[in-house]
Amino acid sequence: MTRTPLTSPFDRSEIWFVTGSQTLYGEDTLRQVADQSQAVAAGLGGLPLKVVWKPVLKDSDSIRRLALDANARDDVVGVIAWMHTFSPAKMWIAGLEALRKPLLHLHTQANVELPWAEIDFDFMNLNQAAHGDREFGYIETRLGVARKTVVGHVSNPSVVRQVEDWQRACAGWAAARSLRLARFGDNMRHVAVTEGDKTEAQLRFGVEVNTWGVNDLAAAVDAASSEEVDSLVEEYVDQYDVSEELRPDGARHQSLRDGAAIEVGLRTFLEEGGFGAFTTTFEDLGSLRQLPGLAVQRLMAEGYGFGAEGDWKTAVLVRVANVMGTGLPGGASLMEDYTYDLVPGEEKILGAHMLEVAPSLTTARPRLEVHPLGIGGRDDPVRLVFTADAGPALVVAMSDMRDRFRLVANVVEVVEAPELPRLPVGRAVWKPEPDFTTSAACWLTAGAAHHTVMTTAVGAEVFRDFAEIARTELLVIDEATTLRDFQRELRWNQAYYRLAQGF
Ligand code: MN
Repeated sequence: MTRTPLTSPFDRSEIWFVTGSQTLYGEDTLRQVADQSQAVAAGLGGLPLKVVWKPVLKDSDSIRRLALDANARDDVVGVIAWMHTFSPAKMWIAGLEALRKPLLHLHTQANVELPWAEIDFDFMNLNQAAHGDREFGYIETRLGVARKTVVGHVSNPSVVRQVEDWQRACAGWAAARSLRLARFGDNMRHVAVTEGDKTEAQLRFGVEVNTWGVNDLAAAVDAASSEEVDSLVEEYVDQYDVSEELRPDGARHQSLRDGAAIEVGLRTFLEEGGFGAFTTTFEDLGSLRQLPGLAVQRLMAEGYGFGAEGDWKTAVLVRVANVMGTGLPGGASLMEDYTYDLVPGEEKILGAHMLEVAPSLTTARPRLEVHPLGIGGRDDPVRLVFTADAGPALVVAMSDMRDRFRLVANVVEVVEAPELPRLPVGRAVWKPEPDFTTSAACWLTAGAAHHTVMTTAVGAEVFRDFAEIARTELLVIDEATTLRDFQRELRWNQAYYRLAQGF
C-alpha cells in the first residue's frame, strides 16, 4: 500500500535569531553587532531546527513587525533573542505583547575571554549584553512573558544542548497546535482520570479532539484489499520473528491477515483525515475482529500518538513526545504502571498494556505472536512482544484538575528485565527516581494518571520547556525530590495556577 509518512515540524520549521540594539551607537558599532550576532547564530548551526539570523533590531516598530511576521509564519516555531548591546526595553513592549511564538532569551556575548589589556570604552560599548540582557529580562518579567533563559557562550556544549532541548519543545508545541486526534468510541466506562475537557485542550494546546463511531474504522478495515494485506504480511515477516502459527503456512495465519487489515484500515482513516493521534477502547469494537494491537504498536513507533481506553490526553503526550524525540535514539509509547516488585531496596515497576506498547522502545527484533485476551470479547489479537531497552527514560502523565491540566513527570531508569516467558506483550521494567517509595507517594499525591507516555528519547528538560511554552503545570519527580517539598509545591501550585489564569 502507498504510505504517507506523518509530517513533522522537524521537516520544515525554523527558529529566528533576533538581536537587540539601538541607533545610538553609530554605523560602525552596529555593523560589528550584526557581524558578531551572525557568528553567534552560526554557533547554533548544528541544531536540528535551522536557526535563521534576522537583521539587528533598533526600534519599536521593527521589533513589533518582526513579531507579527513570526506569528504569521507556520514554519517559524520559535524566536531566540539576544541583546548584544543596550536595547532600551520600552522598545520591546509592543513586540513582546504581540509575539505568539515560543521565546528563548539567550544571555551570551561575542567573546569568551576578556582582552583585559586592550579594553577601551569602545569595547565596553560594543560588548554590554551583561546589562543589555538585564534590561530585556526586566521587561520580559514585567510583561509576564513565558520564556526559557539560557546563559553562556555558544562554544559551551551545555548552552547548545539547552537550546536544542528548547527547539525540541518548540517542535512539540507546533505539533500540538496542529494536531488532529480521532477517538474511536468513548472512554472506558466509569474511569475518571482518562476523562477531560476537550474544548479546554483545544484552547490550551491547540489539539482538536473528536470522536468517530468505531464502525467508520471497521468499514475502512473491511475495504482493505488482499494485495494490501499481502504486502503488509511480507513486511511483518521481514521485520519480526513471526510465530510458526502466524506464518503464511501456519494454522492461524488468518489472524495475522486480520491484524494486517486493521493496520490498512487505520492508516487509511488517519491519513485521509489528517490525524496525528487516535484512541481506541476495548469496550467498543463494533465489527472489528480483534482489539487493534499490532497496528497500534507500529503506528506509535512511526510517530502517531495513541491512548487506550479512550485516553486522548495520553495520546496527545505520545504524539508530542514522538515529535520532540525526532532523530534521537529511543522512542515514545503509551505505558501503564502495572505491577510492582517490592523486594526491599530492589523495588521495580513492571509496565505494559493489554497490547499497545510501541516497539520503538527496543532495538531488539520483536516477536509477532497471537494469544488470547481475556477482555474485549473478540478474536485473539496479534501483537508484538519485546522488552524495552535498559537506559534512562521519562514517564509523563496528564490529569485534568478541573481548572487546568497538570503534567507529572518521573525520571526513571529502565533496567534489564528478568525472563518473562509467560507474558506475551511489549513491556518495560524500571526503577523510578529518587526511589520507589518517594516516587509512588508523590505520583499519588499529585493525582497523576495510571497511563503515561514513556519516552526513552527526550528527558525532563524538554518537557519542562514544553510546559513553560504551553503555560501548563508540570511537576517533576527526580533525584532531588522529597515528599515533603513535593507536597508543598502542590499546595502552592493550587493557588498559583488559579491566580495566574485570572477571572
Ligand atoms: Mn489502560
